[in-house]
Amino acid sequence: MSTVAPSSMHLAGQSSQLAKKTRPVVIAGPCSAESEEQMLQTALGLKQVKGVSIFRAGIWKPRTRPGSFQGVGAIGLEWLKTVQQEIGLLTACEVATAAQVEQALKNDVNILLIGAHTTVSPFLVQEIADALKGVQVPVLVKNPVNPDLQLWLGALERLHQSGITELGAMHRGFSTLDSAPYRNHPKWEHALELRRMVPELAMYCDASHIAGRRSLLRPVSQRALDLGYDGLMVESHYNPAVALSDAQQQIMPQELHMLLQALKQQNNLTEKEKQGAQLEKLRKEIEHLDDELLTLLSRRTKVTAQLGAHSKADGIQATPDPVRWDLVLENLLLKASSAGVDQNVVKTIFQEVRSQYARTHLYNYGMSS
Ligand code: PEP
Ligand code: MN
Repeated sequence: MSTVAPSSMHLAGQSSQLAKKTRPVVIAGPCSAESEEQMLQTALGLKQVKGVSIFRAGIWKPRTRPGSFQGVGAIGLEWLKTVQQEIGLLTACEVATAAQVEQALKNDVNILLIGAHTTVSPFLVQEIADALKGVQVPVLVKNPVNPDLQLWLGALERLHQSGITELGAMHRGFSTLDSAPYRNHPKWEHALELRRMVPELAMYCDASHIAGRRSLLRPVSQRALDLGYDGLMVESHYNPAVALSDAQQQIMPQELHMLLQALKQQNNLTEKEKQGAQLEKLRKEIEHLDDELLTLLSRRTKVTAQLGAHSKADGIQATPDPVRWDLVLENLLLKASSAGVDQNVVKTIFQEVRSQYARTHLYNYGMSS
């Protein structure tokens, strides 16, 4: 099977509709279309918010459990059209099947979104890509729910092979066991890896689905801007308290206005400020990596403790230390060279981890290291 080399994609960073907009492109609107009144009230509010140019609303909602609000369906497309024609905002909605593509296009939706629960399924993505053959419409592809870059890239490739030239990636975070304090862990380095693979790819940040709560919208959005993202998506509802889905993460249009005002945008910076921002960006990336290291060390500590406890329970006392340290170190040193990491650094960290383990666990066995 032939695949399109990522570097040959012509993506939203370079081409028409989205590319012409000033950065960051801001997409805002309710999680779900609920009623014509809700759509129009929200859109009227958003029209006043400087920087917002695209109105989003979920028409068909992929809900985790049956019984939750599943979206209003095709009637919502008519409301989107009213927003486009009477309020003058471009429109965007998620599509997950060929039939939904057809209905969205019939109602002149300007930008299509592929949701995280769809990107995970090559069958669905292919169905959408086939339905889009011969159509020119910008498509923003959310990352799959699980952190699998190949699935994300694969979805972009399928659409590209169908002739869609205006493509962008939308980062909405990943479902992980311990995503706190986020709803979906951003794993920024993972999304940035996609941009490294396809440098011309326009990157959008769905701050709402990463954050999951209003208080985190600002730091998440700022981080995306610091990392040079092209656009932001923020869910907005004229009255979030009564929203039928994602009530806790939606903000009123006035709040979005304040949020956007508070964000420091790279575009308005002087050359010196840009250099400072670049430094800050690298510092933040290192801080983030250090956090990841800490999380990994903490997980490691827990797993070795479990291993110790199991061995003790099983009465495997012949081997006082159940961790095969020498083997582990040998493997790590081999990998270190190819990963470009100094072997001495690996050795030092490893020895520290080992003696800390010995101090806590072997001591409990009544042995010393
Ligand atoms: C949404 O944008 O409302 C949505 C359902 O998002 P996701 O596909 O990221 O879960
Ligand atoms: Mn939502």
